[in-house]
Amino acid sequence: MRATIGAMTSTPQAAVAHEADDVAPAVANLETIVSLAKRRGFVFPSSEIYGGINAVWDYGPLGVELKNNVKRAWWKAMVQERDDIVGLDAGILMAPQVWVTSGHVAEFSDPMVECSTDRRRFRVDELPGAEDLSPAELMDPGIVARLGLKCPVDGGPLSAPRRFNLMFQTWMGPVQDDASLIYLRPETAQGIYVNFKNVRETSRKKLPFGIAQIGKAFRNEISPGNFVFRMREFEQMEMQYFVHPAAAAEQFEAWRDRRMAWYEGYGVSKSRLRFREHRAAELAHYAKRAVDVEYRFPFGWKELEGIHSRGDFDLSRHAAASGENLEYFDPATEEHYIPWIVETSAGGDRAPFTFLIDAYREEEVRGETRVVLALHPQLAPYKVAVLPLLKKRPEIVELCHRIKSDLQRDIMAVYDDTASIGKLYRRQDEIGTPWCITVDVESLEDGAVTIRDRDTMTQERVPREGVRRFIMDRLSGAG
Ligand code: ATP
Repeated sequence: MRATIGAMTSTPQAAVAHEADDVAPAVANLETIVSLAKRRGFVFPSSEIYGGINAVWDYGPLGVELKNNVKRAWWKAMVQERDDIVGLDAGILMAPQVWVTSGHVAEFSDPMVECSTDRRRFRVDELPGAEDLSPAELMDPGIVARLGLKCPVDGGPLSAPRRFNLMFQTWMGPVQDDASLIYLRPETAQGIYVNFKNVRETSRKKLPFGIAQIGKAFRNEISPGNFVFRMREFEQMEMQYFVHPAAAAEQFEAWRDRRMAWYEGYGVSKSRLRFREHRAAELAHYAKRAVDVEYRFPFGWKELEGIHSRGDFDLSRHAAASGENLEYFDPATEEHYIPWIVETSAGGDRAPFTFLIDAYREEEVRGETRVVLALHPQLAPYKVAVLPLLKKRPEIVELCHRIKSDLQRDIMAVYDDTASIGKLYRRQDEIGTPWCITVDVESLEDGAVTIRDRDTMTQERVPREGVRRFIMDRLSGAG
């Protein structure tokens, strides 16, 4: 969590467990995922034909499916299946005063140092040896000398830390002056706070209730990197749960556990997930508690999602600055109060990235290496590939297309005949397609097709009319 007021910004990275007790990442080398993502059309560098732009990535045909499926799974758990949470889609551009009130204009910054030989800039908390410093220590002018910090690239001397505001600025309207200065939102949460009253009144929700939102956020990160882990343009999936102050502690724990269960439920290995509770020195002054869900990425244990107990800070600040009464009246107890907020703040890019990494397997099959993405079927870009055993037989091809079109009404299904069947299976394994349907000569006689399971590679003969039921049953059973 980046706090905005009082305490300093980013989370000092978790102390990585002692080498010997540390769990191995799903993939030893991040490059394996980066190259798969590029080769198969999950993620491309943005504006690549112009040499790219740092820390912005584009999702290709498979990436956009995976990402949409992850967002849909989050929305299902956070909105669709809950009577107490409703959705919102607020603008990226907001009244500039929002960011003054929230504290972002004054405080949304990272401590940064600059190398005097190569002019590279680094976040202090990402320098080796500085990962565990408190917010105050990160801004201590003597910290570089005291810890002997050096430029991690060329070993050059580093400047004293200074603050660097992470908000992107732009101008609204035809005049570019201070009066027209606005910001690209650095988080989606503020859109929820300023709509609290509108949403509560129109949805007639009683506390406790929540507002969920998925959308773009922008941060001019000092040291972006690790592929889509830290980008300058990214998505957040945030939910703000409004509660009575006395219920906040219990709700915080309930949401912490639910959010961990969500990742596990969609297949992320339990051993590569952990909680990291923030120490008192890391918390913003208003924060009651904060815990990160961390994942063991190939580059260490890092935050995947933050769960924060924020007290009444957000609504009382906006109430005071806007003059709007943001209190809640409980008719049962006749009590007026500013709700407290428990926030769950996940990454719309970090989550798909995690599912992609954690699903990656290399297996030895009959002396050959098989690459499989063991993605949860609900998250897999394509659910089914329909493949002809003989593409020269028009009746076979035609039957393939009929089966595929029938499935396409509900799910992503593709047809492919551009290689031998063995190769086609491998291609689908590598992108995580849970089922391949093969139509052969016999299918024309007995009306049955073969359905191959990605993980077990077992094959089952299924009557043509039963294909849709077979797939849909397995898909919903997996959810
Ligand atoms: P970090 O310490 O990694 O910079 P943060 O503590 O600043 O993250 P929050 O402000 O709590 O992150 O944002 C909530 C979530 O938004 C994060 O858990 C992460 O999934 C996602 N997120 C934040 N910054 C980025 C980014 N630059 N690129 C991609 N995802 C991000």
